[in-house]
Amino acid sequence: MDAASKPTDLRINAERLWASLMEMAKIGATPKGGVRRLTLTDLDRQSRDLFVAWCKAAGLTVSVDGVGSIFARRAGRKDALPPVVSGSHLDTQPSGGRFDGCFGVMAALEVARTLNDRGIQTEAPFEIAMWTNEEGSRFLPVMGASGAFAGVHTTEEILAGRDVDGTAFGDALRAIGYAGTAPVGGRRLGAYFEAHIEQGPILENTGNTIGVVTGALGQRWFEVTVTGMDAHAGPTPMHLRRDALLGASYLIQEVNRLGSATEHSRGTVGMIVNRPNSRNVVPGETVFSVDFRDTDVSGLDRMEQGLRAAAERFAAEHKLGLAIRQTIFFPPCHFDQSCVTAVRAAAEGLGYPHMDIVSGAGHDAVYIARVAPTAMIFVPCEGGISHNEIENAKPEDLAAGCNVLLQAVLAKAGASSFL
Ligand SMILES: [Zn+2]
Repeated sequence: MDAASKPTDLRINAERLWASLMEMAKIGATPKGGVRRLTLTDLDRQSRDLFVAWCKAAGLTVSVDGVGSIFARRAGRKDALPPVVSGSHLDTQPSGGRFDGCFGVMAALEVARTLNDRGIQTEAPFEIAMWTNEEGSRFLPVMGASGAFAGVHTTEEILAGRDVDGTAFGDALRAIGYAGTAPVGGRRLGAYFEAHIEQGPILENTGNTIGVVTGALGQRWFEVTVTGMDAHAGPTPMHLRRDALLGASYLIQEVNRLGSATEHSRGTVGMIVNRPNSRNVVPGETVFSVDFRDTDVSGLDRMEQGLRAAAERFAAEHKLGLAIRQTIFFPPCHFDQSCVTAVRAAAEGLGYPHMDIVSGAGHDAVYIARVAPTAMIFVPCEGGISHNEIENAKPEDLAAGCNVLLQAVLAKAGASSFL
């Protein structure tokens, strides 16, 4: 290796990364410039076929596990070492964008291609991971395959999931030819890195190119049912009403107030069902969702207690029935210190403006973090908009994120030819 080939001089091929992203975005392209590529559909098969063809062309060894996740392996000098893995997902939301998930998979592929170009052999093997059904929009649970890899779900649970038409996950997986034979999880990874668009506005607003992701917010979701009494809007005097929607509106304000209390807390009501939902009837029942997020369990506890206390107060004041049921709990996730440090050092060394950031969204990395040292790399997306056809990101930011990924992978996998 000549002096110009030192790892810090290594750069990924930005044009090739962009071209791969744009080629993949054609599969399921929507008229508004987005992508609709639901998991385990024929479009998903096409994206997998293309990805696998690219991996094979790069000389990688491809395997598929029992829930359809794809692993493409580049041998290491010490091939028995646990692999350093990087990836994300190729499925999208029904009206998704070109970068959510796909960037992480294409970035990992670009890392492998760059190592090939420069003839670099890492000590530990390097693997690209493509996790099945991250989005959870066709089948539940969300992040199902990475969750199964981490032992959160059994393979049987994942395969038994059904979509709204009653099709089983396992049958859909077989139909697209990706019911693999590799065991689901149960093996050691040296490290896992996932590059992803931020899906929020913080990097753009602060003028940073790289988000060094230190963890992910914990989430606690509830379904709140407020019960009052249906009554005629004319003859029923105000003071005799038991208006469920009025009670819900108080609580929705309270959720917003609780979520606004600290920098790292969030409180959202995104779904509401009002019954009988008639113009001249005092509502008798209102059901709504509550989504609390925080970096710490104590923050989630604080918001839950606040919600329950407010609910008790309003219920007594307005003679309403109130039931609060927890539907989802993801504990806050703190990524591995040494992996986070590798990402930060890479951003630093490459001279990219960067900041520490906490992911507000769930990602495959959050599950993999339970079984392997893990970190994530965020790049800005335009206006912070994601899960939307207009989702956009700048080629130079994506290239920067991929360069950081390359350096972080080299730091963890080791490249003895440079040492
Ligand atoms: Zn994603």
